[in-house]
Amino acid sequence: MVGTRKVGSQSGIARHMVMEEAVSAANKGSGSGVSPASATFGCYTFNLEQMRKRLPRPIFEAIQATIRSGEPLDMGLADVVAGAMKDWALEHGATHYTHWFQPLTGATAEKHDAFLQVGSGSPLESFSGRELIQAEPDASSFPSGGMRSTFEARGYTAWDPTSPAFLVFNEHGATLTIPSVFISYTGEALDKKTPLLRSMRALSATAVKVLGLMGRESRSVNSTLGPEQEYFLVKEELFRARPDLEVTGRTVIGMTPAKGQQMEDNYFGTIDEVALDFMGEVELEAWKLGIPVKTRHNEVAPHQYEAAPIYQPINLACDHNQLLMLIMRRVARRRGLSVLFHEKPFEGVNGSGKHNNWSIADDSGRNLLEPGDTPDTNVEFLFFLCAVIKAVYRRAALLRGSIANIGNDHRLGANEAPPAIISVFLGDRLTHILETLAAGKEVESAVEQTIQTGLAQLPGIRKDNTDRNRTSPFAFTGNKFEFRAVGSSQSNSMPMTYLNVAVTESLDEMADMLATRLEAGEDRNAAILEIVREVYKACSPIVFNGNNYSDEWVTEAESRGLPNLHNTPIALEALRGDTEKDLLKKYGVLQPHEMDARFNVRMEQYCTMLQIEATQMLRMAKMGVLPAAYDQQKTMAEAIAASEAIGIQVPDQRTECEMYVETVQRTQRAVNGMRAALAGVPHTDDPGVTGAWLAENVLPAMVELRDCCDTIERRTDESLWPYPNYHALLFQ
Ligand code: ADP
Ligand code: MG
Repeated sequence: MVGTRKVGSQSGIARHMVMEEAVSAANKGSGSGVSPASATFGCYTFNLEQMRKRLPRPIFEAIQATIRSGEPLDMGLADVVAGAMKDWALEHGATHYTHWFQPLTGATAEKHDAFLQVGSGSPLESFSGRELIQAEPDASSFPSGGMRSTFEARGYTAWDPTSPAFLVFNEHGATLTIPSVFISYTGEALDKKTPLLRSMRALSATAVKVLGLMGRESRSVNSTLGPEQEYFLVKEELFRARPDLEVTGRTVIGMTPAKGQQMEDNYFGTIDEVALDFMGEVELEAWKLGIPVKTRHNEVAPHQYEAAPIYQPINLACDHNQLLMLIMRRVARRRGLSVLFHEKPFEGVNGSGKHNNWSIADDSGRNLLEPGDTPDTNVEFLFFLCAVIKAVYRRAALLRGSIANIGNDHRLGANEAPPAIISVFLGDRLTHILETLAAGKEVESAVEQTIQTGLAQLPGIRKDNTDRNRTSPFAFTGNKFEFRAVGSSQSNSMPMTYLNVAVTESLDEMADMLATRLEAGEDRNAAILEIVREVYKACSPIVFNGNNYSDEWVTEAESRGLPNLHNTPIALEALRGDTEKDLLKKYGVLQPHEMDARFNVRMEQYCTMLQIEATQMLRMAKMGVLPAAYDQQKTMAEAIAASEAIGIQVPDQRTECEMYVETVQRTQRAVNGMRAALAGVPHTDDPGVTGAWLAENVLPAMVELRDCCDTIERRTDESLWPYPNYHALLFQ
């Protein structure tokens, strides 16, 4: 069981009793404050309902139009909206407001200001339209990847009205939190939200054009996202006793436990009480903030769990995922737990991802990746499906780059996560349909169990959820794609931005193909099918339904020409590649220097964290592992000497002791090797060069030193070991 059952001053049992009493009181109608999720959902957000209630009708309508179009809000309206928002916030005890944004660090940032105003009259609370719309945090301390030098570090945050403001409570009140973008005065995106919003606009414009050609008018198209979040929970006291977990988010040393996940008894297993109480508290808070958390379950490894919300428009889903992570951190701390979002906290144990379920929907909410019941909707479905296949084929390197970070390097391809090779899983039936079409044959006779739709060459395509492949990095799962290679600690914004843009590009090209055929007078459905054929034929090498973990796939992928970018320094190069820069520029999402900036920031993060990990490992080896080993060595030697002194020969113990000493010697050499590697880190202007050097020189030194430390741990008296071991972390 994770954590202790004591929570604050109340024992877990007492809490359960309180809960039961409250629920039964609520059932009796005494209004004790416990209400179902639906009654409190979104109560701490300034949502549509609040706006409708509190804003004059014309202003409410104007702001809805702003939200739909993404145009800036008129300052005259902003004052009224700010006033209403302030009243609402003060009614809930708010004392401060903040613009909440997502700098390139990948975390979220906020600077609070009190509503309090003291001037000539009496003190009062004030909040103007200008303060709602724009704030100026000092941008100089955020990474800009070299886009602007520190002396001109002026950046500002601007309200994103498509994501509702919300309240974050503390002991003394609450903070009105305003989701915002972060841009420089010259208009460069200094954050992860701005490119996402730009990519949504590009995708919408292109998809609306495609739908128009298909004879389906639509005002806008949005991508939808349902991110499944995996995480570990460990006791906070154990976490605090592991400096590596505290500093790097992962254990840089540690012997794997005798029982890990081999029994496969954890996935969907009974959720232990401590974890369930944690989840319950997280969910209550999340619901109040309008985050539709829906699913919770045990994951593959001990103490590993997953939370998944109901999907939402992509911008909101990205904000909500960030917020959910913050809530989890806070609740964990409150309950004496630590939540681990690292991609690979424990070697030899399943890592964590953030499966990004992604689709596209028109303004009526119709899912464009939903197989239809009629020939018309089916050809449309195939068209959009092939646009995604084409996008992933063409932009596999960019997508791989989007998920590259130091943590994911330990996860991708580590035989329990998607490999570093990006491919698309379609399932046997869809693949068969597309293969048959591409071969110019009729599909109907070849496919069993399909519902005929009346179009000779195309059977009905039923959603098929049973056809699953958990080894695929990018799987079609019935009516959406699941990008499973995204790291659990990552912000979803950039992977989703690049995916949106890649799909925009292929839709754009396919729109041109369709327009040409329609102008030539071809039948619409026939033209669409012809394009599906052509695109699938050209892009089918990206489709792989087999076992992505197998060695054969690595060879096969190479012969298909698919990129295998096996570590972060190599994968990140796609972020500054010429064709990638052209693509992002073409759709107005990122300018080349904004791409360079992102490369620089992420590469620097890699370099810094790798050196921190190596240094941390070195310290633990010298300050913890070796001292324990010397004690152990001494005990062994003394035991042998004592035996021999009374004439008892212990040759096996002697051999064991010699082996132990040899490992200690090897560890000492590995420590020296690591010291030398760290001393040799080159100082270059290009973090790409430094990163590649570190991967080549420091990583192997880390592997060697870890192996030494883990071997010593395996042979050392547990009571001498200076850190909580894997067994304690994963089973207590
Ligand atoms: P799984 O078996 O992978 O858990 P689910 O059907 O439970 O599959 O869905 C997982 C996630 O996918 C949920 O967050 C769900 O809301 C999301 N999802 C479902 N449909 C869509 C869609 N059209 N667009 C984006 N996400 C979706
Ligand atoms: Mg899933």
